Amino acid sequence: MWTYNSANSLEKSLPSIEKAIDRENVCHKIAVDGGSSDQSRTILDRFGWTVKEAQRKGIPYQANEALTMVDTPFFAAFEHDIILNPKWFDRTSRIVESDDRTGAAQGLRLYVGSKTMRAFEAWMYRAKRIPAWSFSIDNTLFRTEAVKRAGGFPIEDPASADTILRKNLFGLGYRWITDSALLSGHYRKDFLEQFKHQVKLFELARYYWSSSPQDRSVPRRFISLLGGNPTHVLGMALQSSMLRVPIAWYILRLQRGLYLAFPHENKAARRVPMDLWYLTYFLKTVLSSRLTLPTAGEGIDNLASTGKNCAWCGQSAGFSYSVPRDWGNILPKLHPGVGRRFFACSDSHAERIAEKIFKDAFEYVTPSHS
Ligand SMILES: [Zn+2]
Repeated sequence: MWTYNSANSLEKSLPSIEKAIDRENVCHKIAVDGGSSDQSRTILDRFGWTVKEAQRKGIPYQANEALTMVDTPFFAAFEHDIILNPKWFDRTSRIVESDDRTGAAQGLRLYVGSKTMRAFEAWMYRAKRIPAWSFSIDNTLFRTEAVKRAGGFPIEDPASADTILRKNLFGLGYRWITDSALLSGHYRKDFLEQFKHQVKLFELARYYWSSSPQDRSVPRRFISLLGGNPTHVLGMALQSSMLRVPIAWYILRLQRGLYLAFPHENKAARRVPMDLWYLTYFLKTVLSSRLTLPTAGEGIDNLASTGKNCAWCGQSAGFSYSVPRDWGNILPKLHPGVGRRFFACSDSHAERIAEKIFKDAFEYVTPSHS
């Protein structure tokens, strides 16, 4: 754990960790503190954590210092504001242990504390707007060897240690698995805290991560500045029945939009690293849905099947495939001409079509398998 003036959330976070992980599964509880002036160190001490003063302040630096003290095959990384699900260790340890290509396993975390922040994410989770493969390093069980082979927590961008570590693990052939039904809390005292946190994060970040970094078109930026799709905001307001929810949403989006609208010299847009594991899983599901189309002259149905062309090459198609229904937000992202069912001349072309569908929708992919 890395901390800095975290007293407020530690009182909630530490007991939840203690509850989720049995004593016999814990060797060390290590916190690297970035020079707190509040009660953080005292509280950590009270819960039996070894506290070390950071040589250099910042998430990846503090995390790496803690990593040098890890002497077990697996370790857990927590942020000071995580309120851990009681089942967290049970479920993440099973995922990590079941396959030695798995480098990291985690759940999702949704805001608690602030009612406003909670309403945003409760809506987003229910509407499947939170990708099931969402990742972070704050409620995550790691394979120590994997992280060490990847060079530890990357210091390249202090606000993107998670994204870059994940990319580095993919590069080594490891998976990063998210159990999207395993929900922990992410404590925010109030909306103002989130507002300040977001500014700090923008200032700190060197990279913006996007599924389509080249798409900085004016309409897209304008829509983003205005808070994105207005029906989402309406949904949030109705679900929470709190008027301040849409107002707070627009404030946060405007803050983000304004920040991104101005050029920042030392910042670059980069593509979110693709998780090949989820892609492979998706392709397999699509290919297994293959149906052979009746050829001309076979049965009375042949009129319906004539003129079906491969959506990749345009040649006459012999098969139809379906995009699985339970991959949430992939469906609304389908390109014109490719529907829930599409036609292809061969498995290899079907695979290319499915890959394009997946990559276009990547930002909102929500496989509902568990
Ligand atoms: Zn084809």
